[in-house]
Amino acid sequence: MTERDLPFNQLVLASGNAKKITELQSMLGDRVEVVPQGRFVAEEAEETGLTFVENALIKARHAARASGLPALADDSGLAVDALGGAPGIYSARYAGGAGDQANNAKLLEALSGVPEAQRTARFISVLVLLRHAEDPTPIICEGVWEGRILEAPRGENGFGYDPLFWVPECECSSAELDAATKNRLSHRGRAMALLHQRLGLA
Ligand code: IMP
Repeated sequence: MTERDLPFNQLVLASGNAKKITELQSMLGDRVEVVPQGRFVAEEAEETGLTFVENALIKARHAARASGLPALADDSGLAVDALGGAPGIYSARYAGGAGDQANNAKLLEALSGVPEAQRTARFISVLVLLRHAEDPTPIICEGVWEGRILEAPRGENGFGYDPLFWVPECECSSAELDAATKNRLSHRGRAMALLHQRLGLA
């Protein structure tokens, strides 16, 4: 059996995010029904890993175990070279859970005085698909988006660190991109495209 055979017709998504569910459902078409994890379990998995891959695996295993279905999970964040890869897996709660604006303010403060050439950074998205909770060979797809951290926010679109993320190929911040362009270029878009290929849907 290869992963191209799509040996399942239901898949649980280890997220309650309605946008992610719709996005994945449209990608998979009518061959697979995407079911939210909340249908089986109220609690989210505790993200105790130290890497994006570990946390995505933990989330996928939690969802597969609770549902008895194949499960897909993602984990993503921003890694800044001058900060040794921080905020990394802690991107969402970098400023202690105080939200995007506080995260961005903390990042600017941490990089204060760091010259442009040393402000290199990347967004990372890892997708993990487990056929079942004990699957020893998960499908793992990683998407990376290279850029640089600006000295002040620019743009109104997107979320999270988008206003501070300079996209060299577009000469603007990722918060200045329209959603379709961002989805095509972004770490998540790239990871999704890889998953598409691995499932034979491309
Ligand atoms: P999660 O994968 O949805 O948990 O995202 C983790 C955190 O990484 C988010 O809360 C954001 O702070 C950051 N992040 C991930 N992807 C993006 C993005 O596309 N733009 C801006 N920030 C992002």
